[in-house]
Amino acid sequence: MGSISTAGEAVARIAYLSSDVIVSVQPSLASDSEFSEYFRALQKAKAPSLVAKNHPEIVAVRHNVDPLLSVFQPIRAGKLTAVTTTSSILVKSIPHLYKLAQYPVVLHVSVQPTGFPDFSDITSIRQSGFTFLQSETLQQSQDIALTAHALAIKSGKGVIHFFDSGAIAMSKNIPHEDRELVRGVLDLNAAAAIQKSRSEETSLYADDGRSATLSVARSQATAVPGTVTGRVNPPDGGQAMTVVDRTRARAESSSSSSRRESSTASGASSSSATTVESLASKPVSSEDIYRFASQIWANIKEATGRSYDAFEYTGPVNAETAIFLFGADTAIFADEIDTADDSETYANAGIITARIYRPWLGASLAPLLPQSIKRIAVLEQVRRKTTRWGPVLLDLLMSLKSSGANSPMIVGYQLGYINDKTVQQALRGAFQNLTSESPLQNLQVGNLDGPTPLSKVALEQPGLENAYMKILNQVFGERLHIANQLGAKHAGISNEISSSPEYGFGSLLARKEHRKRFIEEARAASKSNDFITRSPLEWLSKWAVDADNSDKANALAPEVISRLSNDGSPAASQLLSFKSLFFKESPWLIGSDAWAYDLGNSGVHHVLASGENVNMLIVDSQPYSERAAADAARRKKDIGLYAMNFGNAYVASVAVYSSYTQVLEAMIEADKFDGPSVILAYLPYEKENDSPLTVLQETKKAVDLGYWPLYRWDPRGDEKGEPNFQLDSERIKKELEEFLRRDNYMSQVMKRHPDFSPALSASYGTEVRQLQKRKAKDAYSKLLEGLAGDPMTVLFASDNGNAETLSKRLANRGKARGLKTICMAMDDYPLEDLPTEQNVILLTSTAGQGEFPQNGRTFWEAVRDSTDLDLATVNFAVFALGDSHYWPRKEDKIYYNKPGKDIHNRLLALGGNPLTECGLGDDQDPDAYQTGYAEWEPQLWQALGVDKVEGLPDEPPPITNEDIKINSNFLRGTIEEGLNDPTTGAISAPDQQLTKFHGTYMQDDRDLRDERKAQGLEPAYSFMIRCRLPGGVATPKQWLQMDEISTKLGNETMKLTTRQTFQFHGVVKGKLKPAMQAINKALMTTIAACGDVNRNVMCSSLPQHSQYHTEVHAVSKTISDHLLPSTTAYHEIWLQDDETKEKKKVAGDAIVDHEPLYGPTYLPRKFKITIAIPPHNDTDVYAHDVGLIAIKGADGHLEGFNVLAGGGMGVTHNNKKTYPRTGSMLGYVPTNAVHIVCEKIMLVQRDNGDRKDRKHARLKYTIDDMGVDVFRGKVEELWGEKFAEAKDFKFDSNVDTFGWLKDENGLNHFTFFIENGRIEDTAEFPMKTGLIEVAKLQKGEFRLTGNQHLILSNIADKDLPQVKELLKKYKLDATNFSALRLSSSACVAFPTCGLAMAESERYLPELITKLESTIEEAGLRQDSIVMRMTGCPNGCARPWLAEVAFVGKAFGAYNMYLGGGYHGNRLNKLYRSSIKEEEILDILKPMIKHYAKDRHEGERFGDFVIRAKYIVATTHGTNFHENTGEEESEEE
Ligand code: SF4
Repeated sequence: MGSISTAGEAVARIAYLSSDVIVSVQPSLASDSEFSEYFRALQKAKAPSLVAKNHPEIVAVRHNVDPLLSVFQPIRAGKLTAVTTTSSILVKSIPHLYKLAQYPVVLHVSVQPTGFPDFSDITSIRQSGFTFLQSETLQQSQDIALTAHALAIKSGKGVIHFFDSGAIAMSKNIPHEDRELVRGVLDLNAAAAIQKSRSEETSLYADDGRSATLSVARSQATAVPGTVTGRVNPPDGGQAMTVVDRTRARAESSSSSSRRESSTASGASSSSATTVESLASKPVSSEDIYRFASQIWANIKEATGRSYDAFEYTGPVNAETAIFLFGADTAIFADEIDTADDSETYANAGIITARIYRPWLGASLAPLLPQSIKRIAVLEQVRRKTTRWGPVLLDLLMSLKSSGANSPMIVGYQLGYINDKTVQQALRGAFQNLTSESPLQNLQVGNLDGPTPLSKVALEQPGLENAYMKILNQVFGERLHIANQLGAKHAGISNEISSSPEYGFGSLLARKEHRKRFIEEARAASKSNDFITRSPLEWLSKWAVDADNSDKANALAPEVISRLSNDGSPAASQLLSFKSLFFKESPWLIGSDAWAYDLGNSGVHHVLASGENVNMLIVDSQPYSERAAADAARRKKDIGLYAMNFGNAYVASVAVYSSYTQVLEAMIEADKFDGPSVILAYLPYEKENDSPLTVLQETKKAVDLGYWPLYRWDPRGDEKGEPNFQLDSERIKKELEEFLRRDNYMSQVMKRHPDFSPALSASYGTEVRQLQKRKAKDAYSKLLEGLAGDPMTVLFASDNGNAETLSKRLANRGKARGLKTICMAMDDYPLEDLPTEQNVILLTSTAGQGEFPQNGRTFWEAVRDSTDLDLATVNFAVFALGDSHYWPRKEDKIYYNKPGKDIHNRLLALGGNPLTECGLGDDQDPDAYQTGYAEWEPQLWQALGVDKVEGLPDEPPPITNEDIKINSNFLRGTIEEGLNDPTTGAISAPDQQLTKFHGTYMQDDRDLRDERKAQGLEPAYSFMIRCRLPGGVATPKQWLQMDEISTKLGNETMKLTTRQTFQFHGVVKGKLKPAMQAINKALMTTIAACGDVNRNVMCSSLPQHSQYHTEVHAVSKTISDHLLPSTTAYHEIWLQDDETKEKKKVAGDAIVDHEPLYGPTYLPRKFKITIAIPPHNDTDVYAHDVGLIAIKGADGHLEGFNVLAGGGMGVTHNNKKTYPRTGSMLGYVPTNAVHIVCEKIMLVQRDNGDRKDRKHARLKYTIDDMGVDVFRGKVEELWGEKFAEAKDFKFDSNVDTFGWLKDENGLNHFTFFIENGRIEDTAEFPMKTGLIEVAKLQKGEFRLTGNQHLILSNIADKDLPQVKELLKKYKLDATNFSALRLSSSACVAFPTCGLAMAESERYLPELITKLESTIEEAGLRQDSIVMRMTGCPNGCARPWLAEVAFVGKAFGAYNMYLGGGYHGNRLNKLYRSSIKEEEILDILKPMIKHYAKDRHEGERFGDFVIRAKYIVATTHGTNFHENTGEEESEEE
């Protein structure tokens, strides 16, 4: 059995076993309390609780956010709730304590400060109605913690268990609690009754009138004479423990220091067993508490021999004096008294302590004490005395006086710090007084100041909150003055005080006064004759005029200072001694949302009331959660509303992880505003060490759902002719909306946001979702009324559409057989109807690690957790779709069709009648899931008795992409109508296919899916737009235009893609057209950037051979233009002016487009062309349908190209018919023919590609199916000429070269490292802003590389200094990253890509960080290893050519590939499948070390892993699936 060494552990373990919810109060969310680490350990070990269903919920809260507020919600919901905390929160929580005392909540309180705790925190709240229990030793902390829980359950009242963990730390270790004892002591039936009870939601402000009651037999409800008295029997049959016994008891319990153990046996309390004839309620009385405690202690004693009682006395039976200790370390006193020389006055004194401090069971004390006791010294360790007499002294006086005439004399002392060195002196002093003729009251004993507290939590700015500090620094630089800056030195003032905003505010006012005087001095000086030179006079007077205008004053300040410095007069020196005052600062106070609980008394209120020009930044870190949003009882107030109502303040609500630009705007506006400004800054986190990705996701949810709206409010806006209120996000909270409506500002919002629907904010809440479900179902049912036949309800859960399509078809077939069918997603179905169904058919596919697809998860969880669904009259059948090889490892086989199997079993368990066995569709079968389905469906019809129906109608064939294309009228479809439909952010499914040809995809924000679904909202639809930019070259002007589009119309970021173009994300439907027009205005287009056409043509970036590059780049442009589709639909839909369109458009279908190259059905699949210029293969020439390798002639000019065909990356996991492939060499063609050859290759593919199976439609399969030679022949036939023999070339890398380079013409080129191509501003790195500044110089050009980086090209020497300075200023010149990072690349994946199975762009940088220490240790910092990651096997970042690659398999799980060629020349191969971060690191770290140790000179990692036999080389796409590192397990 394990052992326990601290009270924190002992208590935490008991609380864990005995609670449903534990509120763990912590100094911060990143630092542990003395309890919290044990909760974590227990949770990690999945230790079960005795009362919670599985294990208790641990709610971590910071000590300064009104932590007891978090108790109301669970306790009112019938959850057994415990709190672990220090005593520091108690006094502040008094209003809550009075109410919580009437609930069975347990507070375990470690009294602070450690080393010399102040028990006035306990005495101050003694009247709150709680039961108070004290423990003094480690064993007691375990037993009394258990007592506390058992007592709370029994009595229904709150219990506070307090202890000094510093003193307890001296105890010897104890064993873990005995689980069976805990089970025996807790009344689990009573616990279950509490869990079933729920109290009404009431306000937190008013007393809810609740009081804990007991159900008792009616005969007991009125009077219980002579039964329970709360009397404590003298120990062990009336014999007090002798000194000898006491010493023995202590010796048994401690090794080093004597510990004093409980010395009184529990008095046998009267049994409460009664025959109950009828029940009545009565309030819980002190007697009840004592009776319950006695029962609990009797149980503990029986099991362990350890006894406890309300009061405990140790000492001689004939003692004449005693000390009553409260809060002190009893052991120190006991040791001293026991070993004292007989000559000491205290030698035979007894010691009394209270185990139950409240209720004060005073009547029981007198009988416990030996009759011989005449005098008692009451020593109270209470540092803050609020009353003249110590609280315990008063208690004691009352109880002993009332016990009779012979009561002992009581003398009170205030006890200071005592240790084993001072105890003797203290006792002597105390007893000298006690035994004197007329003892004095209230003497002080010991050192009242105590030692310096040992463990004091150092104040620290939470790391994450630095985000806002950094932006303040960026915006205001030297002007920034944070008045309550942590760590700033203030003479004689503690950091705790100086960092408080209230202190800061005071210091700001003083500073302001100081500057005012300084301005006057300067003004006076400017008119004086005190200077030696004349120039200070003029500059000073100029400055004095503009001293309050920050721009002007700050511009003049350096000039004034320099003139004064040159002057040298005493007057000049005098002014210079405060030279910082020449600058006008931007004054800031930093605060936290802790103020929101008591705004009227907060720093915010002071600042607002003062009207001073002070800026406040208030960081709110409470994460959005449904619970927080829905918990109306929370007392937290809206600081923004408070400030707006005040009327004189600038107010902004911002979130750095939602809109960086808006944060900047708000800060600048706040600074400019002459008066108080309040910026509420959102930064949600659970723990201070949460990853930025988590913070980002939390922020997005909160902003999207209106929990944290983004806005700016300038009360003087209308004076400037501007709106007072600027809404910067889409949705707002109800309260805010009401405020605006009341003050008529809502109309402003509506004017500026015509699409803003206030109704959206009303849809906040889950009932809406319920209503929607009900409405849909009722509408269906109505439709079916009057139809004959049995009902059949088909429910599906589907991720990729297969289960949905199958379900709809099944429902149609059912209908044809005469059944009344309904078909809907599981999550759209109202669960309460399930028991009333006759036949329910469920179809589900398998997501992630055997999970339900998104639209069935809620349904499944409800069915799984329901205890009262009775399906005895329901027939059901389940068909599951999955892939038996998706999880090749044996242990993962359970995931195969798990959702289907699970729901089948669950419905069985709920009493449902199966119509068939659970049907299993397997992607590995010859016809994939259809094979299993073909067997299952007839069984279903048979079971339903409709298998023999005649004359079934023919079914229409499913609509394919080819149908969509052909029916689209050259890519028009109904796109235009869809764009004009304001009721949804989406467009129709066929249009989603068609818009790809126009360069845009519909997506939805996957970070928000679940949350929006829960709120009854459609997904957050937006569009990705991809530009067409041959060779990836843009002018500075175009860069600025692109940047503006991303900021104004997109999500404030741009992606530089692996195919050298700009991609925008987050463009909502209403902004799609303006964005397209803006792109065209920038002389770019998006047509054919996606879709089944030739896409953007790539070209090597090659900065050092500028002239040659220009020649090759021209070819990329020629090919791109040559292969452009000619439909006019693009122009018609996106570019025509809405107003004049009617005039241009010829009626109806009169315009018939003609696509000479493509024809009406375009290509079978996408088609990609790239050009590489040796020796750089930075465009991965082998990975594309057509790869052109530029060949330089002897004259240094472009001569022609070697042509590769049939490269391609896309793969489907576990589908061996799909594979990546490198291009095959067709031969050499001269420059002037190359675009024609590209065209002919495309045409052979157009006519021969597989149009039936999109997974087999790329050119690579066409070539492998017909053979390279036949394919080449067909191209030559169309072309009318022959390929020449391929020319020699050599590649040496496929990565970029970072930093500055000079070309043959003397021009300079700088390659920036843009991690994964994402252009964005963060607090750490304002890259986007920096690049805007660079572009504004209008020098050179911007080239996007195939590795998602950026080159600033063609900078003349004369412009270099200016450019370099800018790069330095914005840290854009940083390229000193590990070579591993520099050679890495990831696709977009989450949150926008609909195909992503795992994170990629947001995760790869983190993974690399975790590998970098190994790379450093191995000495490989400068050695490039090409590492790539994608979120799915579609392969956008060309992972199959990397030396090491990770391809998403499920959330958090990746397939790992090894052995790609360093030049992008060889495919890699599967090494391990479905591994998570831990395994990735376990595999890679030793492999990297091995490589560092054993590699040959110049040997690349991809080659090494093959030589070292980690993996077998892939020589062609067709053997990609052979000899993989991990064989699939064939066993089921
Ligand atoms: S590789 Fe997959 S996850 Fe990544 S962007 Fe492409 S389609 Fe999306």
